[in-house]
Order: sequence, then C-alpha cells, then structure tokens
Amino acid sequence: MTNGKGRILTIASGKGGTGKTFLAANLGTALTLLGKRVVVVDADIGMADLGLYLGLEKSPITLHEVLAGEATIEQAMYDGPAGCKIVPSGLSLSGFSRANPQKLKGVAEDLTRTFDFVILDCGPGLSKESTVPLAVADDVIIVVNPDLSSLADSLRIKMMCEAVDTQIRGVVVNRSGLSKAELAPREVGSMLGLSILVDIPDDDEVRKSANLKVPVIMKNKNSPAAAAQTKLAQQLAGSEAKEEIVEEISKVKKENSKKGGKFRLFGK
Ligand code: ADP
Ligand code: MG
Repeated sequence: MTNGKGRILTIASGKGGTGKTFLAANLGTALTLLGKRVVVVDADIGMADLGLYLGLEKSPITLHEVLAGEATIEQAMYDGPAGCKIVPSGLSLSGFSRANPQKLKGVAEDLTRTFDFVILDCGPGLSKESTVPLAVADDVIIVVNPDLSSLADSLRIKMMCEAVDTQIRGVVVNRSGLSKAELAPREVGSMLGLSILVDIPDDDEVRKSANLKVPVIMKNKNSPAAAAQTKLAQQLAGSEAKEEIVEEISKVKKENSKKGGKFRLFGK
C-alpha cells in the first residue's frame, strides 16, 4: 500500500460530528510530541474544518489545489502544533469542484517517504471523497460516539473497509460520560466486533481549546481528553517501533542467509 516507510492512518466515522477532526489534530500533535514525523491532511474536502480548528483557514494554497493539479503538496503544507505539518483543505465550492479525490492516493503514498505517520482526516459516510482515504490507508481508526445510531453507521464503515481490504486498527469511543443511558465501551466493541483503542470522555477543556484554535493536548495535557489521546499515541508509536524491529530482523536474516555468515542484529 505505502511507498515509503511511514504509515497512512485514516480517521473515519459513519456520522459527521463524532470527533474525527478533533482526533486527527490531537493525535497528530501527540505523535509529534513523541518524536514522530507527522503530517495531518484534511481529506474531508467537502466540509474542510481542520484548518479552522488550527487557525489555518486563510491558507492561500490547500489540498484542493493539489488535487486539482494546480499546486504541489509542499506548497499546501503548513507548520502546525508542536511542529507537526498540516495540509488544510479549502473552503470554497469552486475549489472543491476542481479537486479530484482520486489523486489523494498518490499524494498520501508520496508523503509516507517523508513522514512516519500520514494522518488522513476523512469525511463521514461512504461518499467518493471518503472511500479513497479508506482504500489507501494502512490502518483505519473508527470514531464512534456511544449511541446506537453512531454505532449503526460505523458498521457500514467497517463493511467498506472489508470491501477495500483495509485493516481496521480499532475504535475510539469519543465523548463518553454524557449520559447514564449511553453504551459502555465494552458493548460498543462487542457490537462492532472490533477492539476499543481508547475511551475519550466528553471534556470541557476540548471546547475551551477549540475557542483558542489549539489542540487540547497543547492547552492542558493533563485534561481527561488530552490524557486519553496521549495514551492512544503511545500505543500507535509503540507498535510502529515494533513493526520496524520486525522489518529490521527480517532484513538482517535475509542478508545473513545470503552471506552464510553469523546472525548479527543492530550493528557490529
Ligand atoms: P467530525 O470531524 O467528526 O465532524 P469534530 O471533530 O468537528 O467532528 O467534532 C465535533 C464537535 O465536537 C466539535 O465542536 C468538537 O470540539 C467537539 N468534540 C469532539 N470531541 C470532544 C470531546 N471529547 N469533548 C468535548 N467536545 C468534543
Ligand atoms: Mg471533521
């Protein structure tokens, strides 16, 4: 799937408003703080709001121009929180109509040469714009609110991932704790047949940080929502490190069997 070493991580959901953009911005920041090279791309090209969340809404060149073949991805890349890179989408209808969603595949794959994580903030549902980010992903994270309608729509995303043969990394339950009647993360996981990566509570600090146009993780890293995101980033960064080690081991084993020499790992 990917060209380079980095992984394409798509944040998806059946419904709009579950917290995909919130997760993409915060997870990108948290992974950057863990020392990873990260770019967050607003692949929700119809309802672009990543730029709005991060104060980049006036960016002159966006993913729209890149997908229209009018600009390079480097021209549409801006400095984001903690040093992660952000590719916003544009807000104009004409930009949206000129953008070709199919071009996102090549763009995302190219980014994996430079970045450890290419995070795609995907539009909701199963439109043409959202199926490309699902198909090109190495891993999909599905964001679910703990209610039945969010869950039912997530099942469709799960089926779509199966249809395009993309691995689902797991589910993030977001905005929990709002009602006693809501589903428990365990129930969400078993109804979807997927593992729960983390449970993020509804947190007033998220609203406060949104007003300041900074990720909650930068405003108050100890708030419950920020702490949950850090936990998720640690899981993802840790497993990426494990995958690198497995790759390194198999490379050394291959070289070793070619040379018929002694098996050596990590240098001399
Ligand atoms: P999506 O991208 O899925 O449409 P957003 O990320 O834009 O959804 O989130 C929708 C709204 O919910 C935003 O106003 C966001 O600030 C708010 N929100 C998301 N997650 C939380 C949370 N854990 N606690 C409080 N507010 C949240
Ligand atoms: Mg969004």
